[in-house]
Amino acid sequence: MKNNKELGAWLKDMQLSHPLLIAGPCSAETQQQVLEIAHQLKDTDATVLRAGIWKPRTRPGNFEGVGEIGLKWLQRAKQETGLLTTTEVANAAHVELALKHDVDILWVGARTTVSPFIVQEIAEALKGTQKTVLIKNPVNPDLSLWLGAVERFYKAGLKNLGVVHRGFSSYEKHTYRNNPEWQIPIDLQNRFPDLPLILDPSHIAGNRALIFDLCQTALDLNYDGVMVETHHDPDNAWSDAQQQITPTTLKQMTKDLRIPLKDGDALEYKNKLNTLRTKIDVLDHQLVDTLGKRMGIADEIGILKKSNNVAILQTKRWNEILNRMILEGEEHKLSEDFILKIYKAIHQESIHHQNKVKTRK
Ligand code: PEP
Ligand code: MN
Repeated sequence: MKNNKELGAWLKDMQLSHPLLIAGPCSAETQQQVLEIAHQLKDTDATVLRAGIWKPRTRPGNFEGVGEIGLKWLQRAKQETGLLTTTEVANAAHVELALKHDVDILWVGARTTVSPFIVQEIAEALKGTQKTVLIKNPVNPDLSLWLGAVERFYKAGLKNLGVVHRGFSSYEKHTYRNNPEWQIPIDLQNRFPDLPLILDPSHIAGNRALIFDLCQTALDLNYDGVMVETHHDPDNAWSDAQQQITPTTLKQMTKDLRIPLKDGDALEYKNKLNTLRTKIDVLDHQLVDTLGKRMGIADEIGILKKSNNVAILQTKRWNEILNRMILEGEEHKLSEDFILKIYKAIHQESIHHQNKVKTRK
């Protein structure tokens, strides 16, 4: 697949807002719920209504979606509000039903993108149509698998494509339900600048308090839109209650977000600068996170040395690390002097940590 402007043409053809705002509940629950949310969304910048009909739940026993009947509710919502509609398809039968009910945009979920067989099956089922398909990143942080799914649709003749960044799952949960790992979508964007990139802050956050900041970062990185889970009564939603926001909050949020404008030299300079600065912020965050983890391991070594009565400073080991890092630094165009300075500082902090462990009773 080559990058070409064709990939994002659907955004203009479908007269969608920039940045694109997709909103709606995690799941369609009842006809009344879908219509209530759709009507409230008319008063926001949303142009596409989302709702899951078939829900891929990690464990059985949770609400697994209303199925086909929900497609009728989406159709009715479209008729009454003029919003376009989108839902998740996870196999060829879903595709057939979604096409039959005239869903405008289909999305492929994170648990589907991991499986080339199912992605292929969905792509085949869509052959000959010009449906717009959004492909969520796979649950695991693997850019090739994500791109591979995009390529399967492209090869099946589908050119109206986009990708949705919904974060990557990890065993340990910290701030996010799914870590953003911004570097992955940034790499994808560098390779395919015309493939529309949409953020799903809801599934990254898992918690409504984090949604605004995630959207701002995405806009600063020149994403093409956001898909936000929105419910008229979020606390009582049948799925993903904690991460949904009301249409009123959504409206306020889009007012408060800084949206980079497109045209003009000065603006272009500012937009580019903002994008680059946000990339630096992402990397700085990773640097401090990695350093923190490294010191955590230094503490563990401190405990081990203490219980075995071994001296903290091990010159031979230190020189080995330094030599290896100078060589690795060269490969990344980092001067020997710089590596020496950085590693001296890291080493000192490490010794400091281990000394603290040693003197701890
Ligand atoms: C969803 O959008 O409701 C959903 C299930 O998403 P994901 O595939 O990203 O988990
Ligand atoms: Mn959800």
